[in-house]
Amino acid sequence: MTTTEKRKPRHKKTSEKWYSDGLRFACRKCGGCCTGEPGYVWVTPPDMEKIARHLGMKLDDFTGKYLRRTGSGHSLRELPNGNCIFLNQNTCSIYRARPAQCRTWPFWKSNLSSPEAWDKLCNACPGGGQGRRYSVPEIHRIVIKQKICL
Ligand code: SF4
Ligand code: SF4
Repeated sequence: MTTTEKRKPRHKKTSEKWYSDGLRFACRKCGGCCTGEPGYVWVTPPDMEKIARHLGMKLDDFTGKYLRRTGSGHSLRELPNGNCIFLNQNTCSIYRARPAQCRTWPFWKSNLSSPEAWDKLCNACPGGGQGRRYSVPEIHRIVIKQKICL
């Protein structure tokens, strides 16, 4: 039996990723990714509950004070200068309860898409390419966590 159907490309194995040796990252706490241009820090319902508990606030009080509604969800409020409302002297004041979007940085799919994308991230973030080496399985666990949460 013959077929004209082309073989589908095989998915690359984990070991064939361009970052098969892992990637280094250690936050230098410069606050750079929590400041500047206006943007969104998405907050999921589990994030909301966690942060509210961390702050010892009722959920409604927390959402009213710290969140803004956008078309597709909730984002943390920003100060007029674009800083995240939880940034305090370059440090995240809710670090232990920070949203999934922040916890999974910088291992976002967009930053992992190519060596060039990772280099761009490293140029913008002083912690990129520095410190501890994350293995491929560790990186992929973070990516999956981000997919589930966001
Ligand atoms: S820009 Fe990088 S080093 Fe600076 S706070 Fe953000 S993650 Fe940490
Ligand atoms: S929640 Fe914390 S880590 Fe996330 S943007 Fe705000 S200050 Fe930065």
